[in-house]
Amino acid sequence: MGRKTLVLAEARENQLRQVSYEAIAAGKKVADGGEVIAVLLGDNVSSLAPVLGHYGADRVLTVEDENLKNYTPDGYKQALKQVIDGETPEAIIMGHTAIGKDLSAVLAGKLNSALVSDVTEIDAEGDLTFTRPIYAGKAFEKKRFKEGLVFVTIRPNNIEALEKDESKDVSVSPFDVAIRDLRTIVKDIVKKTSSGGDLSEAKIIISGGRGVKSKDGFEPLQELADVLGGAVGASRGACDADYCDYSLQIGQTGKVVTPDLYIACGISGAIQHLAGMSNSKVIVAVNKDPEANIFNVADYGIVGDLFEVVPLLTKYFKEA
Ligand code: FAD
Repeated sequence: MGRKTLVLAEARENQLRQVSYEAIAAGKKVADGGEVIAVLLGDNVSSLAPVLGHYGADRVLTVEDENLKNYTPDGYKQALKQVIDGETPEAIIMGHTAIGKDLSAVLAGKLNSALVSDVTEIDAEGDLTFTRPIYAGKAFEKKRFKEGLVFVTIRPNNIEALEKDESKDVSVSPFDVAIRDLRTIVKDIVKKTSSGGDLSEAKIIISGGRGVKSKDGFEPLQELADVLGGAVGASRGACDADYCDYSLQIGQTGKVVTPDLYIACGISGAIQHLAGMSNSKVIVAVNKDPEANIFNVADYGIVGDLFEVVPLLTKYFKEA
């Protein structure tokens, strides 16, 4: 059998995002022996294309246009729609990222096709079944794929990428598109100065809540993150108190993360916070209140003052 499957690869600042490799692995499952074609949209991105083959794509299409330099729903929709029309895939996989969420919904609506979003597991044995969290992570639902075209977005850090094989040399070819009458043009992107990488793809997150008490209170957390090679996140409590930027907020109305290790410092564990991090692989909580709800989801709990515990952890890992 086999399903021809298209995978949208994402690049940022001339680097492919990890979720692109995970999407290829997801694509392989969905394709069930069919061809997996990675599509890379952008301007001057073709040098990145061969790597997508190293991670398992059978073929790579590069769609280059100056209008695709930055994401716009209009430009990307037009470009990807033309690739879909040309290749007629049966499934399209993207990361559950800002771009993937937006683009999958726009195109699934336009093409009147199915959309399964925020997928954490794919079972290709027997009927193709997608697992996704619902009710802010309190339950999981399984969706069985029947027929037609399906768009799937996968949650970063859940589906393991295939091992990189640099000896794999796949066909990379340009796909020409015509982008017309754009309603949105990105003139400039002003980046916020925040240290650390992309939270949604980070393997280790050190998160601070209202318990950090000030902007300076985040410093010991940043030091621990630097030693562990992780990123710093926050509760909405910390963001509302202006201890940090809202771009760090994790939770129901912030980012949803699934790192290998999540260290929650001075966070009470409100349900809205848990919605964004409770599927982390290992959760460590540092809180001076032994009754704090965060301990109910933590694998390891440390009852203590974060300003004593966090520097001790940093010292330990520095010396380890
Ligand atoms: P608190 O609840 O005040 O907890 C602070 C914790 O720090 C306490 O447990 C305390 O014991 C501990 N502490 C204090 N000092 C120390 C110390 N020195 N050492 C160790 N521990 C210490 N919240 C989110 O996080 N993300 C969201 O996306 C989100 N979305 C929301 C959406 C809606 C519609 C609503 C209504 C709320 C939302 N919230 C969200 C807010 C949420 O309900 C909580 O108010 C918030 O998560 C609390 O943040 P906190 O745990 O940092 O603060």
